Amino acid sequence: MTSEPIIYEGKAKIMKIIGDIAEMTFKDSLTAFNGKKRSSFDGKGAINAEISYILFKLLEKHGVNTHLLSRKDEKTLVVKKLEMIPLEVVVRNYVAGSLRRRVLLEEKSKLPFPIVELYYKNDELGDPMINSYHARLYGISEDTISEIEDKALRVNEILTKALESVGIILADFKLEFGYYKDGKILLGDEISPDTCRFWDKETMRSLDKDVFRFDLGDVRKAYLEALERIRNVKI
Ligand code: UDP
Repeated sequence: MTSEPIIYEGKAKIMKIIGDIAEMTFKDSLTAFNGKKRSSFDGKGAINAEISYILFKLLEKHGVNTHLLSRKDEKTLVVKKLEMIPLEVVVRNYVAGSLRRRVLLEEKSKLPFPIVELYYKNDELGDPMINSYHARLYGISEDTISEIEDKALRVNEILTKALESVGIILADFKLEFGYYKDGKILLGDEISPDTCRFWDKETMRSLDKDVFRFDLGDVRKAYLEALERIRNVKI
């Protein structure tokens, strides 16, 4: 017996959960600054779906377990249903975004080593940055944090190398993890220009959501350029 699908609609995706499986449909809408700035463009959902699909497949090939199962149509990925851990895990290789408020380093300079940050996903609190002690308050153990951080750093190594081969610097990105039914922690959510900072290696030009956040030019063109390059990543 199949049960009725459960549908969640977020700012950038619609999740349709059918038993142990979920269909993740990427929307054309674009939001920034906690939904205060909004826009959309035709094809954005398809671009983000394809980039996520390529990068998740690449990670799987390198031994990182993700929720990806298949691509159903242009905008829809079929994934394993996860019980999400309420954390945003950010990995940074360069100085950008909110890191500028924490360090006295020049914008766009390279960090001496990758920095991992944890944010508690909670609308009421505005997704604050937390550490492993705070995480324990939410039932997330130190072992889980350390497993997630190791996985995030492994993802960083794989993606940094792959993107460099197509002239993209991976400045920073955000990941989300969840438990699969067997208790294993898998990488979930998406990896796209909405959740990463991609910079052209030669010019340091943004090929990601910063183009929309800070009105740096044609957003569609930037996302398409990221996709076209990522299509050439050797899997
Ligand atoms: N990020 C994200 N979702 C969030 C917050 C951040 O995908 O809710 C991504 C963001 O696109 C960037 C990285 O995480 O690639 C670091 O973001 P930062 O803390 O600098 O915040 P921002 O200035 O992007 O709001």
